[in-house]
Amino acid sequence: MNDIVFSSWGGQVVDNRSGQSVAATAADIKLPLSYGSQQIAAFMSWDGLVITDKNVNVVALAGAYMREAAKLACGECSMGYKGTAIISETLSRIAGGQGKPEDVELLVELADSIQKNVRCDFCANAVIPLRDALKNYREAFVSAAGSNVALPQIYYITKITAPCQEACPIHQDVPGYLELVRNRRNTEALEVIHRTNCLPRVTGRTCVAFCEKNCVRKDIDSPLSVRALKRVPADLGIIKPLPSEKGTKKDKVAIIGAGPAGLSAAQYLSLKGYQVYIFDEQAASGGMTFAGIPAYRLPRNVLAGEVETITAQGVQIRLNTRIRHVEELRRTFKAVLVASGAHQTRETDIDNWNKDYDGLMEGVKFLHEVNSGKAITPRKRVLVVGGGNTAIDCARTVLRLGCKEAMVVYRRSRHEMPARDEEVKAAGEEGVKFQFLAVPVKIQSQNNKVVGAECIRMELGEPDASGRRKPLPLKGSEFVLPADMVLTAIGEIPDLSFLPQGKVDVTSWNSIKTDENGNTNIPWLFAAGDCASGPASIVEAMAAGKRAAESLHLYMSKNKLERPETESIDRAFHEIGLSRKRRGPKPAGTVRKYPHEMNAEDRSKSFDEVEECFNVQVAAREAERCLRCYRVMLIVKRQG
Ligand SMILES: Cc1cc2nc3c(=O)[nH]c(=O)nc-3n(C[C@H](O)[C@H](O)[C@H](O)COP(=O)(O)OP(=O)(O)OC[C@H]3O[C@@H](n4cnc5c(N)ncnc54)[C@H](O)[C@@H]3O)c2cc1C
Ligand code: SF4
Repeated sequence: MNDIVFSSWGGQVVDNRSGQSVAATAADIKLPLSYGSQQIAAFMSWDGLVITDKNVNVVALAGAYMREAAKLACGECSMGYKGTAIISETLSRIAGGQGKPEDVELLVELADSIQKNVRCDFCANAVIPLRDALKNYREAFVSAAGSNVALPQIYYITKITAPCQEACPIHQDVPGYLELVRNRRNTEALEVIHRTNCLPRVTGRTCVAFCEKNCVRKDIDSPLSVRALKRVPADLGIIKPLPSEKGTKKDKVAIIGAGPAGLSAAQYLSLKGYQVYIFDEQAASGGMTFAGIPAYRLPRNVLAGEVETITAQGVQIRLNTRIRHVEELRRTFKAVLVASGAHQTRETDIDNWNKDYDGLMEGVKFLHEVNSGKAITPRKRVLVVGGGNTAIDCARTVLRLGCKEAMVVYRRSRHEMPARDEEVKAAGEEGVKFQFLAVPVKIQSQNNKVVGAECIRMELGEPDASGRRKPLPLKGSEFVLPADMVLTAIGEIPDLSFLPQGKVDVTSWNSIKTDENGNTNIPWLFAAGDCASGPASIVEAMAAGKRAAESLHLYMSKNKLERPETESIDRAFHEIGLSRKRRGPKPAGTVRKYPHEMNAEDRSKSFDEVEECFNVQVAAREAERCLRCYRVMLIVKRQG
């Protein structure tokens, strides 16, 4: 039973205290009223106050909420800093039975004044539910302030997050470390980053930055340069070891794959005290960050340094070791995590595609060979088929190898390209050409060598399942593009040949079927990263690796432990999406700073890193643009 007693959520007041209103439920106010197996008795946060249990004391609730909010007030303006502190103290006094009747007026005035006069958004948002409580439960406040009786203690859980933090799969405390960068406290900023991110230097260069896409500043001028700002403490600081239970457990666990998913799982499990062994068939760790991402975006020494930090904790990595049958690992290891990525290129339907021809290759294989230092014959004209990041990495790489003309052939238009805008722009600046709305249909060859590709022009029809307009061939529009190399970058799928056939559930696109915590249908087998999700990103693989490692830990501890309560709260509230609503004054427009890059002509001739790191001063100025959009959520559980 979870009907609402009172709700001011989203500005809509539902008041059923007298039992006269029509009963409202979670669906009516678009807010979950339970998480995991727990029912919520009261909830207070950025958009109001919700009560489902009439026994909850609203005065004590408001006091608890403001105590948490006051801790986060930043001190940039005394109205917010002192105002929230006075409110919190006043509410504590009232709750302790030492209030005065005039306290309620003071609370109302302060809450109104904070909403109107603070300099940033945090405090302006924080007082919203307090104002609702004061307005709608005024008698309760007056009576508590006038009595000399202490209120019963309230037990609550808080969650503090921000729109950027919520969008990040590993929930990095973005406002927290940006504040430290702003104050030039980069060592501490790195500590904050490293708590949830085992690859800070890698992600500071290559993260797809979901945080930036959900940055509130986007609605005002432009999002913070969060990814580039993360790189500053990551590059400057020395990563300190995290608290570890090293050597506390005898059990051994095996991980297949030393990519982001495997590394993040290994870090978690080794800190928990397990003996962790990673097996990888490649000659270096990093998975696709080693095999796929070119050195001009991610220098090899940076990646190697990050891996060293993880092995320094005691994680063992066995390179050049392909696992052929997962069951063989079971003899030595109690549990196995599969984090084997998606490395197999989809079959192409281009006519006369013959892998033995000189000049035909899969893009991912080509990048792997270059990144492994294999000597590659320079080509004059290279066609890259595809429109994603792999295609762009291939084209930019062939230019650096001395190719005269690199052309990306994509069947849709520029608008539909899945590759990141900044990568496409950088490729164009370096001289990569694009042939949109075309697709190769037949390889042209002479003496087992590629000499070109016959292509056909396309037009865009109605949107397909992916939501993008479907490319349709234009009959009779065939034309030939000369080339001495053709690379395909048309998407990767996992190679699961090491799993026992028919015993492990797989999806229709040949990835391992798991629940959201990385459990497969076999109790001792877990899976995470691209092999379960299909090709995604570094940060998503890291998040999945950690979740699966937590499940593995629960399995190893014979289910004696429970997943942290905060996790089911995260899950329940993730659905509603954290509000980007602003209530503070509109800040003056600012110009986003981008890191310097090597000029296009020089960079297209070498594998030197293209992007520079912000210096400390510029980073501090860019971090000043952050609005500290923290939101406090306070939850009281239903008893019994
Ligand atoms: C060209 C390219 C560029 C990319 N650029 C970016 C980027 O800029 N930003 C971003 O966020 N993402 C990027 N990605 C995606 C990102 O690299 C992947 O999503 C991420 O690495 C997946 O991590 P993972 O740990 O699941 O798998 P992987 O990183 O693929 O690691 C899996 C590992 O398992 C090993 N393995 C597989 N099978 C076996 C076996 N049987 N025995 C032993 N070892 C095995 C593999 O050798 C590999 O090392 C890019 C991908 C590509 C292809
Ligand atoms: S302004 Fe700062 S706190 Fe707000 S969403 Fe952007 S990065 Fe996060």
